[in-house]
Amino acid sequence: MRRTAVGAALVAAALAVTGTPAPAAPAAPALSRLAQEIGRQALPAKDGWAAEGTGTTGGAAAAPDRIRVVRTRAELVDALGGDNATNATPKIVYVAGTVDGFEGPDGALLDCADLADPGYTLDGYLAAYDPAVWGRVDPSGPLEAARVRSVANQTRQTQITVGANTTIVGLRGARLTGLTLMIDRVSNVIVRNLTLTDARDCFPAWSPTDGDAGNWNSQYDQISVRRSEHVWVDHNTFTDGDNPDSGQPVHFGRPYQVHDGSLDVTHTASLVTASWNRFAGRDKLMLIGSSNTVGPDVGRLKVTVHHNLFDGDLQRLPRVRFGQVDVHENHYRLGGPGFAYALGVGVQSAIHAENNFFTLAGDVDVADLIQDWGGTALTERGSWLRQGGGPARPVDLLGAYNAAHDPDLDGDAGWTPTLRAAPVLPTPLVPLVVGAFAGAGRLPL
Ligand code: CA
Ligand code: CA
Repeated sequence: MRRTAVGAALVAAALAVTGTPAPAAPAAPALSRLAQEIGRQALPAKDGWAAEGTGTTGGAAAAPDRIRVVRTRAELVDALGGDNATNATPKIVYVAGTVDGFEGPDGALLDCADLADPGYTLDGYLAAYDPAVWGRVDPSGPLEAARVRSVANQTRQTQITVGANTTIVGLRGARLTGLTLMIDRVSNVIVRNLTLTDARDCFPAWSPTDGDAGNWNSQYDQISVRRSEHVWVDHNTFTDGDNPDSGQPVHFGRPYQVHDGSLDVTHTASLVTASWNRFAGRDKLMLIGSSNTVGPDVGRLKVTVHHNLFDGDLQRLPRVRFGQVDVHENHYRLGGPGFAYALGVGVQSAIHAENNFFTLAGDVDVADLIQDWGGTALTERGSWLRQGGGPARPVDLLGAYNAAHDPDLDGDAGWTPTLRAAPVLPTPLVPLVVGAFAGAGRLPL
């Protein structure tokens, strides 16, 4: 009986990978039949929070003339209907090759100096706001104003807005680099099979009261979901590319942080499914809820995070405020310099963590996989651990956390997920299945 259940779960997992059967697609030039089918696929029924109610279909209903293959930033913006994010016409956008957010009007790559306001230089900024000179208060005055104007310049260049009823699919080897997909105030968006790299900020802000010693903070996520619903982010790979944080300088004694989140869900967004993605070597990964204010986020921020690989990431895997967040069957491969925590339990958060597998370097304390950011409870079950080359074994993360930290977190987050496309796999199978199918380049197109 157990074998039958496992077999059914594996078949269901494979079906989840390939998606629901697609209706016959109209011919679009230069696209294989499989690519056409994948572009038309909707989120499978019950596959996480994005499947609630009307589900998530993206651009499945696109007319033939709204199916485009894009190879440049300008083509991407045009295919999405322009920069204003109000284009709700169903559309399917295939990305071919590398699209760089820094591509200027003539196609040549801009650099940070091209985007800087005339009043801004990093040297000037560092001289003005050195805590030894300026003190530990927020920067203000002409240089900060010039930095803010520079950020506005960059936002117009590297932040690509995505309208409602849109599917974006990467063709084989497709890459979005140096840009942010901004999904804001829209519904029904699908992003699949893309490699997203190095959404860098040319003009990080110095935040002197963030943490004990201040921090540099960046503005740009790889994907931001704000004030939106029904978003499916599936089979993508997120990295910092050839611009890792480890290569950045230190200013004011703190790392100059040019990157922000991989997939942040904030500002009352909800009904998001993040499945079968690979997040590699990133710092701040997935922030769900950006403010402790008890207000419009209450009852929102519902996100499902399943079958993802978190590989060498440092924190926010995810970090949650307010939301009911289902975190199941993910493989966490963690440890090494800078690792902070995996699950962030924030204000009124309700994380349900089930059948996740943790492969840890020897120096990680299991009690530190959970971080309390003002929450009270977390449901956690079925976790397995392999650490420092030892054997795999079941592990009680919450018990380890509570034994080492106070106040304790309650073991019941108060809800049970029902939006699951398949029964959960036995946890020991999770690394195998996630390793085989998660990330860009695994869908058959
Ligand atoms: Ca962010
Ligand atoms: Ca305790």
